Amino acid sequence: AKAQGKNRLVVYADGMAEEASRRAAFAQDLAVAADSGQLEVHYQPTVRLADGRTTGFEALVRWNHPERGLVPPVEFVPLAEETGAITGIGRWVLREALRQGAAWMAETGAPLRMAVNLSPRQFQDGDVTADVVAALEETGFPAAQLTLEVTEGVLVRDVDSVVTQLDALRSLGIRIAIDDFGTGFSGLSYLRHLPADILKIDRSFVMDLPRGRSAATLITSIVELARTLGLDVVAEGVETEGQRRALAELDCGLAQGYLFARPEPAELAGRSLPRTVRV
Ligand code: C2E
Ligand code: CA
Ligand code: CA
Ligand code: CA
Repeated sequence: AKAQGKNRLVVYADGMAEEASRRAAFAQDLAVAADSGQLEVHYQPTVRLADGRTTGFEALVRWNHPERGLVPPVEFVPLAEETGAITGIGRWVLREALRQGAAWMAETGAPLRMAVNLSPRQFQDGDVTADVVAALEETGFPAAQLTLEVTEGVLVRDVDSVVTQLDALRSLGIRIAIDDFGTGFSGLSYLRHLPADILKIDRSFVMDLPRGRSAATLITSIVELARTLGLDVVAEGVETEGQRRALAELDCGLAQGYLFARPEPAELAGRSLPRTVRV
C-alpha cells in the first residue's frame, strides 16, 4: 500500500509538471497570437428593445489556434491577463473593431456604436488613453460612437489612477460601460467612484426571467438606479422571447443575446446593418 501511495505521488507530480509545461507552451503561443494573425474579432449586435433595431455591436475576441481551432475567450483571456499578453491583444482588438466599425459606417452612411472590452491590466500596464486615441486617429472611428466595457475588477488596484484614466477617456466623448453589473462583491458604493455611462445587467439575472421574482425585482432596481444616475442599461444574454418581453416591460432600454444574434465574424454580423439606428 505504501509503495502504491508513493507511485501515485510520483504520477501526480509528473502530471503537475506536464500540466505546467503545457500551460507554459500555451502561454508562449498566446504571446505571438496577436502578431501572427491568429486572433479574430466576432461581433454581437445590441438592439433597442422598443423596436428591435440594432444600435451597434460588441467586439468579442477569438483565438484561431493552429492546432486547437477556434478557442473561446474563457480559455485564454484569464491566462493572457496573468501573463500580461492581454495588453497587446487588447490593443489589437481595439484597432480591429474600430477599423471594422469605421468601414460599416462608411458603407451605410449611418452611425453605429462599437463596444470593446478592456482588461484591468490595460489600465495598469500601459497608457490606455494613448492607445485609444491612436486607434481612433488611425481608423477614423468617431470617439463619440465608442463604448469601452470594464468590470468592477478594474478597481481592485490603484483606484485613483483608473478613475483618472476613465475620466480622460470620457472627456473625449467615449462612453464607459460597467460589464457584468450586479455580480461583484463591492455593492453599489463603487458607482460613486467609477465614472460610467452604461450598466450592463449580467446574464445570470436575465436567465431567471420571466418567472424569477427576485431577478425581476433586481433588474427593476438597476433600471431605476440607472435612470436616477442618468445611465443607459443593456441586458446581457437574452435567449428567449419571454425574457425579451419581461425586459421590455421592466423598461430596460437595450439588450444583447442569442435571441437576436450570436457573436459572428464581420461578414455575417454585417447583415444586421440595414436595421441600424442612432442612440
Ligand atoms: P462579456 O464581456 O460579458 O461578453 C458576453 C459573453 O456572453 C460573450 O461570450 C458572448 O458570446 C456571450 N453571450 C452573448 N449572448 C449570449 C446569450 O444569449 N447566451 C449565452 N449563454 N451567452 C451569450 P464570449 O465571447 O465567450 O466572451 C466571454 C468573456 O471573455 C467576455 O464576457 C469578456 O469578459 C471576455 N472577452 C471577450 N473578448 C474580450 C476582449 O477583446 N478583451 C477582453 N479583455 N476580454 C474579452
Ligand atoms: Ca462585455
Ligand atoms: Ca458581460
Ligand atoms: Ca461576463
